[in-house]
Amino acid sequence: MEIIGVTLEELEEIVTGFGEPRYRAQQLMEWIYKKGVADLSAMSNLPIAFQRCLQEAGFSPSVLLVEGAKQATDGTKKYLFRLQDGLDIEGVYIPEERRKTVCFSTQAGCAMGCAFCATGQKGFHRNLTTGEIVDQVLKIGNDRQTRITHAVAMGQGEPLANYDATLKALKLLNADYGLQIAARHLTVSTSGVVPAIYRLAKEETQINLAISLHATNDQLRSELIPLNRTYPLAVLIKASRSYARTTNRRVTLEYIMIEGVNDGEQDLKGLLMLTAGWLCHVNLIPYNSIPDSPYRPSQPRTRRKFLKTLQNHRVAVSIRQERGAEVEAACGQLRRRLNLDEQS
Ligand code: SF4
Repeated sequence: MEIIGVTLEELEEIVTGFGEPRYRAQQLMEWIYKKGVADLSAMSNLPIAFQRCLQEAGFSPSVLLVEGAKQATDGTKKYLFRLQDGLDIEGVYIPEERRKTVCFSTQAGCAMGCAFCATGQKGFHRNLTTGEIVDQVLKIGNDRQTRITHAVAMGQGEPLANYDATLKALKLLNADYGLQIAARHLTVSTSGVVPAIYRLAKEETQINLAISLHATNDQLRSELIPLNRTYPLAVLIKASRSYARTTNRRVTLEYIMIEGVNDGEQDLKGLLMLTAGWLCHVNLIPYNSIPDSPYRPSQPRTRRKFLKTLQNHRVAVSIRQERGAEVEAACGQLRRRLNLDEQS
């Protein structure tokens, strides 16, 4: 059982169930989140008998094993985590000056089957629990001996297809008794689960929303992101605009640029149309090739042309080429980007 995937109130219920006073829950939270201690027997202000009770009942502050890690020369570090049922997931640490970001997974595998994504090609295993999501951030922060300032749900999986566990994890990352990451520094990236976008807008959080757009017409987007057949562009953009309006938060539109696929004149015109008149930001991402993929990255001059044209039309836009930003740019590109980084 998890004690890192629960709220303070839930933990209070657990500890009082063992006949302990409520404040034990706060003590446990401090050990886990503030001191980075994942070993119950090292929590010196907890009675030894209580530590044993928790252990014997199977409550653990740690639900992931770090199976491996690989660090790029610029400090980016990719972690391979082993879940208790033997499945693997990935998380990534991205240091950028004062910003320390963790990109975390929300599912083991993914059912969305996006054409450009290595994870999507391998299918879906299961949703992660809240504790498995939070523990990625904890383990990485503890390993790096640093305070994590930003966290993004852009690793393996579609976060909004695991809505409850993801949202609860984000609340724990944000909580005073948790990791105290500002809500404005938390981001959910989705391939476009429209009902969940409306639901998220009503949560009254300041969480950022990023949409994996990647195409400006339904035919191409359905080829790249099969979910588009269920929630086509018109309804996705309507939901995104609604999110921006309701939350007053700028929505990021991720656009992986693939040569000859989505980087032509019509695509640029489509981007201008889809972004007109609302609070959004376009993030142009160079595609990172994966083996056996027919796709290639757009030419740098094409990316620059997209950038300039969007800027000229007063659309907020950036090209994410720096290593860290690339990693956090969009789910499904994570593994490949890191491999690329490691080679550089
Ligand atoms: S890109 Fe994201 S949503 Fe699409 S298959 Fe990959 S992990 Fe899933």
